[in-house]
Amino acid sequence: MFTRKLKQLSFLLFSLSIISCQQRDFSPEINQNTLKKSHNIKTRLYIRNDNFIAGKIPVSHHEKRAQKYSKNYFIEGKTTSKKVALTFDDGPSMYTTKIINKLNSYNIKATFFMVGTAIKKHPELVKSIHQQGHLVANHSWDHSNANEHQSIEKYWENQILATNDLLEKITGVVPKLFRPPFGSTTDKKVEKLIEKKMKTVIWSIDTQDWNDDTNTTKNIASLAIKHIHPESIILMHDGGGNRQGTVNALDEIIQHYRQLDYQFVTVDEIINSY
Ligand SMILES: [Zn+2]
Repeated sequence: MFTRKLKQLSFLLFSLSIISCQQRDFSPEINQNTLKKSHNIKTRLYIRNDNFIAGKIPVSHHEKRAQKYSKNYFIEGKTTSKKVALTFDDGPSMYTTKIINKLNSYNIKATFFMVGTAIKKHPELVKSIHQQGHLVANHSWDHSNANEHQSIEKYWENQILATNDLLEKITGVVPKLFRPPFGSTTDKKVEKLIEKKMKTVIWSIDTQDWNDDTNTTKNIASLAIKHIHPESIILMHDGGGNRQGTVNALDEIIQHYRQLDYQFVTVDEIINSY
């Protein structure tokens, strides 16, 4: 009798230890699931600029690809938490420090998709951007269109790996995110990146600050505000031309989003839980 009781007790203790281990091991997952449940899952992921063709790629192409490669090709986040990621492409350049100073004055971290040739010119700036807590990501070596590269292997080596290597040398971190110039890529190139454990990031709001004919402060801010939505990824530029309009538009954009309780985060915070 006593032995049986002892056995029962030891079994009970054993079971309890397993349960507590499980709780300990899986608690981050439980928390994440609880968090996800508190926000709705979006029914559609798409670029908000109506029928606008960036880089001659119809926006519907991105939408289809985001469905096909749902864990590796992102237009926006998938749930409705009030988060937003500001992204800046084509730098670093003389405008980058102005943008960083502005972001820092609001205590906001952003994501910078950098081009190899520009990184080479400003290694100290790249290091400082990284050290200040902003996310450094890959935007190809020379901003050429993926359509110009027939060999996927060479595209990977010359455009993406070369940029990754240089960024790793400067920051000590291997970038995990790639944004194709002009949003132009192919399924095969996306698959190559997946094989190399990199995710492709497009955008859900295009501020069109790259368009020198229309990129006034007013136009940039109004596009960012017009298309506001949860877990948006906003396309802006710190390089590739005169970006003073972009610098000046930040105040209005940030203040508007904050009034509506949006939190500014880096892109990985929006997409990494998938
Ligand atoms: Zn670009």
